[in-house]
Amino acid sequence: MKHELPILPYQLNELEPHISKQTLEFHYGKHHNAYVTNLNNLIPGTEFENSSLEEIVMKAEGGIFNNGAQVWNHTFYFMSFSPKGKAQPSGKLLEKINESFGSYEAFKQAFSTSAATLFASGWAWLVVNKEGKLEITQESNAGNPLRKGLKPILTCDVWEHAYYLDKQNRRPDYIASFWELIDWKVIEGRL
Ligand code: MN
Repeated sequence: MKHELPILPYQLNELEPHISKQTLEFHYGKHHNAYVTNLNNLIPGTEFENSSLEEIVMKAEGGIFNNGAQVWNHTFYFMSFSPKGKAQPSGKLLEKINESFGSYEAFKQAFSTSAATLFASGWAWLVVNKEGKLEITQESNAGNPLRKGLKPILTCDVWEHAYYLDKQNRRPDYIASFWELIDWKVIEGRL
């Protein structure tokens, strides 16, 4: 099965000024695209030739896992953004955020701290745990919470390639821009 780079629901300049067209040209056009190409090159002749991307994320190891999970993670990340999305969560998701973190502002603070303090390359996640409660987790490199039986709702890519062209080493500035772009309607739909 051939894996594809997803078509984004916005133009590459539409996330400006928060994320530049140049960053998306590299991050989506080169990095995300390379993970797709690498995955397609690695799977022929393996047990994953006909597997869905989710099956690869759940079961593969080594290069097939790394590239497959990076395809999944980046698609999940890029699909969270909209130039004019829903600015705040409401309804059931907001209830769950309040239940787990006290308030939306407290959640944002905790998630931002998790993203800012993740050492080296990886992903900060908001997930639904096995008890049905929301929690924040960190994964290094290509890590994905599906492997631990958790359901991902939101993720922030903190690999330097996500922000270096726009913010150089200022990861907290990138995290502030990240919040400006999240479309909470999309995130609510994942619950
Ligand atoms: Mn990335």
